[in-house]
Amino acid sequence: MLDITIINCLSDNYSYLIRDKKTNLVGVVDPSNFNQVDKKISCTYKKLDFILNTHHHGDHVGGNIDLKKKYKSKVICSSYEAKKIPVADIEKSDGEKFILGETIFKIIHLPGHTLGHIAFYSENAGVIFTGDTLFSLGCGRIFEGTYQQMFESLEKIKSLSKKTMIYCGHEYTNNNASFCLSIDKDNKKLQNKIEDIRHKIEQKIPTLPVSLEDELETNIFLRCDNVKIKNSLKMDNRSKLEVFKKLRNLKDNF
Ligand code: ZN
Ligand code: FE
Repeated sequence: MLDITIINCLSDNYSYLIRDKKTNLVGVVDPSNFNQVDKKISCTYKKLDFILNTHHHGDHVGGNIDLKKKYKSKVICSSYEAKKIPVADIEKSDGEKFILGETIFKIIHLPGHTLGHIAFYSENAGVIFTGDTLFSLGCGRIFEGTYQQMFESLEKIKSLSKKTMIYCGHEYTNNNASFCLSIDKDNKKLQNKIEDIRHKIEQKIPTLPVSLEDELETNIFLRCDNVKIKNSLKMDNRSKLEVFKKLRNLKDNF
């Protein structure tokens, strides 16, 4: 019911062209810049009804102004940071819906990376666009929020259907994998996944999307209560939040 096309943008960003098959309504998630997105639209659907932004950073909204000008698109964004989003039209808060034909997205507020960061989650299409909150094998840096907010945002994503496919804002998977392995050395599933990741990177194939189920078994930021991870950090008796803080700090300097 939903076609998703990955667009490589800038050095390591991903924008996503989405089309509801039934109604032919087309949107783009996080257009980093005009040229790369416009090029893809020109050779596919030749129209753009909606622009969806997960947060206000330039590498996620850089295409807003020129794409809206050319295609008369409506810009959907977080009500918590609409003033920072270029040419915003429709503001959405936590729990509200955005409907693209037969595809229903629920807005999930995920503060941490920025205070107003949102994800677009469609249970019926089985996908979530997580922006810079959850990456494959990693999570976003905490710029505006607190560790607790980011931790709770990741907990919200963890509670979704395990079959959900995750589309995130950056190709950081290879570096993230090295960090995960440095802490979670004996994780067989992670070791196997890394082989697959390296192969894809060599072939210049995106490592995304990934399933939530996979991430729950391999992404250390989603596994802060894992005994082996706690042990490797010498934090056996510490809380999940303390472990998360430690991991985030280590990753900032990795
Ligand atoms: Zn960002
Ligand atoms: Fe970003």
